Amino acid sequence: MPRYARVVSDGKSFLGRVTEDGIRPVQGTFETGVCDADGVLLPWGSFRFLPPVVPTKIVCVGRNYRAHAEELGNEMPTEPLLFLKPPSALIGHEGAIAYPHHQSDLVHHEGELAVIIGRRARHLQEADVPAHILGYSLANDVTARDLQRKDGVFTRGKGFDTFAPLGPWVDTDFEPKHQRVTVSVNDGIRQDAPLSAMVFGVRELVAFISRIMTLEPGDVVLTGTPKGVGPLVPGDSVVVDIEGLGTLSNTVVSGGR
Ligand code: ZN
Repeated sequence: MPRYARVVSDGKSFLGRVTEDGIRPVQGTFETGVCDADGVLLPWGSFRFLPPVVPTKIVCVGRNYRAHAEELGNEMPTEPLLFLKPPSALIGHEGAIAYPHHQSDLVHHEGELAVIIGRRARHLQEADVPAHILGYSLANDVTARDLQRKDGVFTRGKGFDTFAPLGPWVDTDFEPKHQRVTVSVNDGIRQDAPLSAMVFGVRELVAFISRIMTLEPGDVVLTGTPKGVGPLVPGDSVVVDIEGLGTLSNTVVSGGR
């Protein structure tokens, strides 16, 4: 299962293949293709994870699990409900989520499957979608729920710096089926559902989005969160896990002003 991560070590950033012993740097980019380099292995512990891609946009889907829409008292949409998170919100695996406590009193976790686009996608049919997907990653669509409710639009509540943890890697072999997505906070399970509970599946979502906006290589689609969203506070450790794909861990720190 090829997995690729972007990491920083000694002040330099690398794209590398994930191996048992660490990260093996590769040459090239996701856009032009990668090939194994003779680069020196970066052993575990010698690097920090960056978000695995540098997207032009992060397209998110709201209310894509029925039980989650119900827990917030929302109607199910008849078409995918889209919003954007800014790329400035991205952090990597083990990065810190900064709680904007002068502005919000209710910050929620939302664990989600992330689709990573590999080829420019415009006006796709569902059958064309797989050829445009590079792979999959894990995300946390961190949300200031009080601001989302107050504003009606999602830009502020979902857009703070650090509100888009993504990683640790892109897995280019993963196929979403019935794998479970779980979120735990300080070891207590909060969210747990199979990916098959999504109302709109990955092909449907990517085709739908591509008929609205061109998706570029590296762009990210967040596929919605299952039931069980709940509050985070500074000091928490939040872990998103998807069977067969990996584990994304982040801490929450006080975010100052
Ligand atoms: Zn979400």
